[in-house]
Amino acid sequence: MEPQTLAIPDTWTVQDAERLYHMDAWGSHYFCVTDTGHVGVKPQGTNGPAIDLHAVVEALKERGVRLPALVRFQDLLHTRVERLHEAFRRAIADAGYTARYQGVFPVKVNQLREVVEEILEAGRPFDYGLECGSKAELIATLPYLTDEKMLLICNGYKDADMMRLLLAGQRLGRNVIPVIERVEELDLLCSLVPDDQTTPAAFGVRVRLSTNGSGLWAESGGEGSKFGLSLAELLHLVDQVEARTQPLDFRLLHFHLGSQLASVENVRLAAYEAARVYAYLYKRGLPLQYIDAGGGLGVTYEAGNTNARAGIDYTLGQYAAAVVESIGQVCTDEGVPHPIIISESGRAVAAYHSVLVVEALDRREKGLPPSQGFHAAAHPLFDMLDAFEQHIAETDDLSALPAELETLRHETTALFRAAQLGVEQKALAEHRIWELLRAVHARALDVDASTAHSLSRQVADHYLCDFSVFRSMVDHWAIGQRFPIMPLHRLDEYPERRGTLVDLTCDSDGKVADFISTTGAKHALELHDLRPGQPYYIGVFLMGAYQDIMGDMHNLFGRVTEAHVYVDDEEPGDFYIEKVIDGQTVEDILGLVQYFPNDLERRMDKIVRAEVRSGRLRPREGVQLLDLYRGAFRYYTYLDNEQEIR
Ligand code: PLP
Repeated sequence: MEPQTLAIPDTWTVQDAERLYHMDAWGSHYFCVTDTGHVGVKPQGTNGPAIDLHAVVEALKERGVRLPALVRFQDLLHTRVERLHEAFRRAIADAGYTARYQGVFPVKVNQLREVVEEILEAGRPFDYGLECGSKAELIATLPYLTDEKMLLICNGYKDADMMRLLLAGQRLGRNVIPVIERVEELDLLCSLVPDDQTTPAAFGVRVRLSTNGSGLWAESGGEGSKFGLSLAELLHLVDQVEARTQPLDFRLLHFHLGSQLASVENVRLAAYEAARVYAYLYKRGLPLQYIDAGGGLGVTYEAGNTNARAGIDYTLGQYAAAVVESIGQVCTDEGVPHPIIISESGRAVAAYHSVLVVEALDRREKGLPPSQGFHAAAHPLFDMLDAFEQHIAETDDLSALPAELETLRHETTALFRAAQLGVEQKALAEHRIWELLRAVHARALDVDASTAHSLSRQVADHYLCDFSVFRSMVDHWAIGQRFPIMPLHRLDEYPERRGTLVDLTCDSDGKVADFISTTGAKHALELHDLRPGQPYYIGVFLMGAYQDIMGDMHNLFGRVTEAHVYVDDEEPGDFYIEKVIDGQTVEDILGLVQYFPNDLERRMDKIVRAEVRSGRLRPREGVQLLDLYRGAFRYYTYLDNEQEIR
């Protein structure tokens, strides 16, 4: 449990804010707090300029962009691609490895065209290629093979249509490698190679290793994985390859342990195991050139706690060293040439570059008092509550008090049902019980950390935020992944409130009540009180991998607006907004579930006409209502907080 306090410190600096939100742990030096108390983003790393994220949001709002919005720092993609390659370059030099590294970006991590193009642009000096895992991804990526050195690796199950396209890519002289996931796919491949083809059809094979991944995605690897061939299946396949008269080029051995690998030791063991298989195949006379270590290179989402759910125990450099050293050592020992190493690192390239910005619309404190000046008639229940207050101050054992208060809450309801307590008395009793719970929490913060921790979520305020967890933070909802979250401004002020975030969906799961901490469990986030008329922006960080693409349409909240921001030290604030991609409108999202404006408007028109005919509605008002409805198809699916209430 992380130490908590409600006491307002005597001094508070922006460095305290950086520490409070653990920016050092998850930010990899790309994020900081500026002297003005705003979050700064350093897309080019420590030595580049810090872009004021709050200023970016204000600039977007000036352009009419409404929140929630995803702000993408395109230069950060460049920086990550460069760092990945630099890490492998260094590991190769340090280990005396004699072959090179050649990466591919797995587009499943973020298929947005602008993201992929930016990554390819950054990777051009390194022949950085792509990985695809489905028909649509293959069709989208094939035309991006602008030169013959780039790789396109195709994982996942394949049908004849996909295999034909992959072979077409090879006929065009591109380095396209279908990775066989089932023995039958070899027959499929061979059946589609034209009889007159003289160049061997290239392919790779995914092997199922004994080494398991670790962490939330561990089941993607290991012997129980749904992908890849066991050693026995691989040996069958090799027999078949050798027996065929068709020219075949088995050039790549692939493994993938799962995303966000927790431990570098597993990476080392898996690379070691795969290299043993590689050396065997090479010695058997197969023309292998590549080992593909798949994805899994993790990102620190946690506050430096490697045992936490999504914690990792290594750096980028240590990951690269583990892969390179293990493969190098096995191949040297076995006397086979070092293969070209591929990794399909997606999360580590894309996660940092985007931030989801949401606005807190309201703060709801639990157990508000009934209207001012209100005094409920005396009731013995209130004597009990007064006695409880005394008890909190005196007892040494706070742990039983929350349950006792819960019992009092039930008794209050029972008295109300039995008409022994009026509405106003019940409202007051509920308020008193909340106050008592807060008093237990406040005292426990000093003397009983465990009780304080277990009460923190209950006593926290609700911050209603303009977004959908299901759409924008799907891994938080689905697998409980924590993301770094913090206010984007006012960080030079101590955040005196503790809150959870609740979203707009009509679903009790639509909330965030689990925040990163050094101990892996924190149920309330330090936030500021809202000021009337002033927006309060909260950022959810490390959103660039998987989140936006996997989000669902719960309650028909659509894709959020995106803004692409570039560093430019000649512009005010050192940035410019290159592009805004509008989020989905109501019309867009309704179309996905088969509702179309024509039909809906016709139905609405019928209702309005009937009301006008009956005389209950004036024709002019009927026309106005229809216009209002027609205009609504253009609305953003989130709330418009800018509108005045008339
Ligand atoms: N390669 C394959 C085969 C995958 O299944 C995945 C995702 O799990 C990746 C690469 C990307 O992994 P990561 O984002 O962890 O680098």
